[in-house]
Amino acid sequence: MSEEALMNNYGHRNTMLVKGEGAHVIDSNGRRYLDAISGIAVCGLGYSHPAVTKALCEQASNLIHCSNLYLIEPQVRLGEKLCQIAGMDKVFFSNSGAEANEAALKMARKFGNDKGISEPEVITTNGSFHGRTMATLSATGNSKVHAGFYPLLSGYVHVDYNNIDAIIAAATDNTVAVMVEPIQGEGGIRIPSTSYLNELRALCDEKGWLLILDEIQSGNGRTGRYFAYQHNDILPDILTTAKGLGNGVPIGACLARGVAADILQPGNHGSTFGGNPLACASADAVLDTINTPAMLKRVDALSHRIVSGLQQQLSAVAGVKDVRGFGLMIAVELEEPCATLVEDAKQAGLLLNVTAGNVIRLLPPFILTDQEADTIVNTVTKLVRSHLEQLKLESAT
Ligand code: PLP
Repeated sequence: MSEEALMNNYGHRNTMLVKGEGAHVIDSNGRRYLDAISGIAVCGLGYSHPAVTKALCEQASNLIHCSNLYLIEPQVRLGEKLCQIAGMDKVFFSNSGAEANEAALKMARKFGNDKGISEPEVITTNGSFHGRTMATLSATGNSKVHAGFYPLLSGYVHVDYNNIDAIIAAATDNTVAVMVEPIQGEGGIRIPSTSYLNELRALCDEKGWLLILDEIQSGNGRTGRYFAYQHNDILPDILTTAKGLGNGVPIGACLARGVAADILQPGNHGSTFGGNPLACASADAVLDTINTPAMLKRVDALSHRIVSGLQQQLSAVAGVKDVRGFGLMIAVELEEPCATLVEDAKQAGLLLNVTAGNVIRLLPPFILTDQEADTIVNTVTKLVRSHLEQLKLESAT
């Protein structure tokens, strides 16, 4: 089958996945792969999960779409549950992560405009990823994402991650918000100090800024709490999420609390498909399945098994810089770039991803068996060892 009709933005792809079962996907040649990346942090419940399939089939036979001119029953239900879990007051539903962030960034601008600030600024961090729309790529702190798309939108100031003093130094009278990921995902699974979010919350309170947390990758159970900020004793003003929210059915959410919850008024924002019945019914079933003590505990147990397994096997190996994890956001960072490992892993029957050039990123589903978790540890260990051996041979010749 030819990919000629498809734009080249994803580059050449040589594998076509046609089916998913549990933690495995199957390609068009019938080859099975253990998925250690979950469609990039999307399918926390794996593939063909019965609760999700049932909710989708039931909703599809009732009402697939209804515009936001009318109340949508699954949207109301999902909104109430999400607000309750997150400690937020209100929610706007979108179709993707970038759109959830776009809503958050519009809210920050309007928060400023309403206060008489005509050129509001949002402080974001280097190494962040917030999306590919013009506002979210401008907010993203990565020059590779900016390249070719100048001029960027004004009003975004980038500072070092995990550094409160850098935020204080960059602030101006126009600052209205700070936006960060509780753990940087695309940036290479960067885990800040445990005090970072607390200090950020205190700073935003002191200055009257909105604290926006981007939990598009870290949310929906991936770190062993429903949202990653719940490991700290804080609440954001605005919270965005997507990816795992629908377990593969496209949906995003921008939640807000207090004054932030009332920024958007009729006519300020909207989406034809955002919060549509099919997406919300699916996300509702996903939420009910993930938000149980047993499932969240299982994420912790799997995290411990995989991270400690990889640390035992790889931490002392020359060429391995670090092995770290926060829940099921796991990284093996090498000294040298290692993008070729993605294809090597696929040949070995494992799907993973390399980000930031030299970070093997694992975002496995929560429904892994212990045996599947061990297969991930053993396969990644073998791949890393043989990759480093190969590099040694190449540098010797
Ligand atoms: N924010 C974060 C933290 C992400 O990881 C991503 C996607 O990787 C996005 C935003 C953009 O989400 P989407 O690709 O659904 O637009």
